[in-house]
Amino acid sequence: MSPAALDIVLLEPHEAALRSLLHSENGAESSAYVLFGKAEISADPWSGLARTRLISHEVIPVAADEMVSASPVHVTWSTRGFMRVLGVAKERGLVAGLVHTHPNAAAFFSEQDDRNEAELARTTFNKGVSSLASMVFGRDDGMVGRLWIAPGETVTASSISLIGGQIKIARAEASVDEDHFLARQAALFGREFNPVVRGLRVGVIGSGGTGSAVAMLLARLGVGFLGLVDKDIIDVTNLNRVHGSRAADVVAGLAKVDILAREIRAAGLGTQVVTKKEWVGHPDLRDLLRSCDVLFGCTDDHQGRLTLNRLAHYYGIPLIDVGLRMRAARSGADYDMTGRVSTIRPGSPCLMCLGVADPRRAAAEGLQRSDPTEFEWRKAEAYVDGGADPAPAVVTFTTTIACAAVDELIQGLTSFRGSQGMTHNRIRRFDRVEDRAMTCRPVASCPVCASQASWGRGDVNPFLGVIG
Ligand SMILES: [Zn+2]
Ligand SMILES: [Zn+2]
Repeated sequence: MSPAALDIVLLEPHEAALRSLLHSENGAESSAYVLFGKAEISADPWSGLARTRLISHEVIPVAADEMVSASPVHVTWSTRGFMRVLGVAKERGLVAGLVHTHPNAAAFFSEQDDRNEAELARTTFNKGVSSLASMVFGRDDGMVGRLWIAPGETVTASSISLIGGQIKIARAEASVDEDHFLARQAALFGREFNPVVRGLRVGVIGSGGTGSAVAMLLARLGVGFLGLVDKDIIDVTNLNRVHGSRAADVVAGLAKVDILAREIRAAGLGTQVVTKKEWVGHPDLRDLLRSCDVLFGCTDDHQGRLTLNRLAHYYGIPLIDVGLRMRAARSGADYDMTGRVSTIRPGSPCLMCLGVADPRRAAAEGLQRSDPTEFEWRKAEAYVDGGADPAPAVVTFTTTIACAAVDELIQGLTSFRGSQGMTHNRIRRFDRVEDRAMTCRPVASCPVCASQASWGRGDVNPFLGVIG
């Protein structure tokens, strides 16, 4: 069996910490340790193959008194600190990693690196730790990475991603821009843009008014790999806004994801689509979710949002979450018509802190799913919220906010609005002419975003650290 393909994700705060630690005034090589969380994906849903994703979790400097010598072409340090890092990795189920610089050369593993690391890898395996990661930062922001999985055996990273307000993904086998149908966007963003988009794995959670528009837009944008997740069957009240849906689909009782997949395939743009008719928290979805480079949250439910919120932090996968609030004008009150796009990633306040994912409502939804009778009883007794009348929805507003969400992805990839990255939280008032950024501070006690413990933590048991 061939070893699992390897992807490395560096979170922006960790990458910044590494860059400042590794910067040396005199141009000498330098080094640091990184603890990585890992995702062991048994089957990437598009390729069917196993993948390992390493996500930076913690940066650890090499102590000054452990540095032995450094020059522009070598760096030597004592391995005392390394043994300590291995101990932590073993205890906490993380992967120990080494990073060193080649300030005056390209990023590559030299023969010297091969020899040194083989020695350290031997030490690693002797200590009962199953793998050792290694990265080289070269000049011009070049990077390479690999994982030692057995003595003398390494897997080279097929992609290295920097994840923050910006999304930068470098793939070892970058495809060339040969998709003629994308020529007009290359005319705006350059020839490098299309191959990046072609390589993207994007999950869209929810295939309703916003999710269907997001999925169709992503296909037109040229995203190569789409994962669509929604349990629902189309009904007649969805036809006013679900893109691609037909009256005959209601009669046929088709699932929303199957309608979208049909339309995207029929467009013939080379998008590989996989569909899952499951609720986002279902264990069968874990491989799909953890394989994605970006997730779009287009679901109404609080429990689903809370799951995606944690996933973004544990696996370093940016979540672009969409919401709408539509209220009719009543006597004495005007229309209230608001759309929201939030971009969630480690280092920015999470959906709970933004007040858009409510653990109490999520608990009520969980009960509704697991014990409908008990839920109805408690609802009648007013112990739980939820199950209210269906929310109003109009196609222009759901589609506008879907466009705004996909624009954030484009901003993350291209910085067309400037280098500040994706807007953290964008609020559009349709009842006024207004679109503005409204961010918040993380709540000090937030279990997801207030501490760095969840950032890049990767696989834990129970999944995402959630019991039940
Ligand atoms: Zn080297
Ligand atoms: Zn939070």
